[in-house]
Amino acid sequence: MTQAVVIPMRSESATKAPARDRSTPTGPVPAYEAVQRQFDKAADLMGLDPDIRRILSATMNEIIVHFPVKMDDGHVEIFTGYRVQHSNALGPFKGGLRFHPALEIDKLRALAAAMTWKTAIARIPFGGAKGGIQIEPSKYSRAELERITRRFCFALGDNIGPEYDIPAPDVNTNPQIMAWILDTYLSMLPAHERHRAMHVVTGKPIESGGSEGRDKATGQGVVFLIQRWAQDHGLELDEARFIVQGYGNVGSWAARLLQALGAGLIAVEDVTGAIYDPDGIDAERLAGYVRQHGGVSGYASGVDHETFLSTRADLFIPAALENQLTAATAPLVNVRLVAEGANAPTDPEGDALLRERGIEILPDIVCNSGGVIVSYFEWLQNKRSEYWELEEVDRKLLNKIIAAYERVRDMARLHEVDWRTAAYIVALSHLEGVYKERGLFP
Ligand code: NAD
Repeated sequence: MTQAVVIPMRSESATKAPARDRSTPTGPVPAYEAVQRQFDKAADLMGLDPDIRRILSATMNEIIVHFPVKMDDGHVEIFTGYRVQHSNALGPFKGGLRFHPALEIDKLRALAAAMTWKTAIARIPFGGAKGGIQIEPSKYSRAELERITRRFCFALGDNIGPEYDIPAPDVNTNPQIMAWILDTYLSMLPAHERHRAMHVVTGKPIESGGSEGRDKATGQGVVFLIQRWAQDHGLELDEARFIVQGYGNVGSWAARLLQALGAGLIAVEDVTGAIYDPDGIDAERLAGYVRQHGGVSGYASGVDHETFLSTRADLFIPAALENQLTAATAPLVNVRLVAEGANAPTDPEGDALLRERGIEILPDIVCNSGGVIVSYFEWLQNKRSEYWELEEVDRKLLNKIIAAYERVRDMARLHEVDWRTAAYIVALSHLEGVYKERGLFP
């Protein structure tokens, strides 16, 4: 009884963000509206071709599946899963799968579009997509999560594929979940085709075809860029202090790698609460504590959300969810640089406020692109039946992400605009060039 709703045509009306209710000025800007506003700003500035603007303003396919899963006690629950495919102009759709109770289509449209821009800036041959299941995964046993994941993959069917749409981990998903998707997808293929489809997902465990360095890749990319920014701005990292929001894959890796360069972690917030220690928090030990206790709460003195955001430091790495820095919260932030590990942590009003206050931002579509860059390396290794050592993966990641940084920096100088707008212009110029070369069928 799997039901799939596929909307296979670009439909502006289906994807246009609803006008925002201005009577609630302190609420975050809805996710897709935020992306569209940034897109419009960059498109106006660069004079993007109006036809290409129309094409890129809409998603390409929106797949919604409802599927049944038997729970441990024998009863059946129906789950809702999504895959939003924004663009495949540059290559197969690519983007993470998120398991979260607040997942909905508007957010996925925004996150899928952001993937299109991210891969275009990094110059990797992928398009943009995002998906997931609307669940609170902590409510389910491991066996139930496995069945939910496998049924979701089965329900998606041919809407994913190694040369068509390649998922990866995101919030509340991990290499184990990717391994279950891989196994389910391969099981649906004829036996002689299975070995050719290992690259249907990335972020797999290394033993199941994953890449060295993928687990830490997003955090590593954030840290490579912070290092470069610090060099450009005369900040000594071994004297710097930083705070992190979200201590999962991205946040905990960024914290550990930055600490290894001598920077001091002084405050951390996750879904369980916020902690603060002016003498420094050991990022490695905290990661162990989180694995054991499920969150940072209790590791050091607790502080409330506003106190956490107001912590005086050099760097802030948001690495949790979107819309954390808004008109209401941006005035609290007290750092030199916000390095966006998370996707869309800053809404347009928060962004403007931070810039007014002289706080620099490394925007998400550059700053957290390390994950998709190493996913590309994993995909290449699987296609070629190769194994790359960690040193090779890190070196290639460094080259690609610094090239992206320089592209955005040069565009910011050329147009005299902020880095987020510059990043969009880099992406849109590349996509515009490709569309103009190829033309539009028929
Ligand atoms: P994760 O599930 O490993 O970690 C998420 C973290 O956010 C957890 O520590 C959780 O406690 C915290 N969190 C959740 N809700 C919160 C709240 N309301 N307040 C404070 N903290 C909260 O997820 P992840 O893979 O580390 O992803 C984090 C962010 O980075 C997301 O925006 C994701 O889209 C983005 N991202 C991830 C990758 C990747 O490779 N995993 C790549 C690019 C971008």
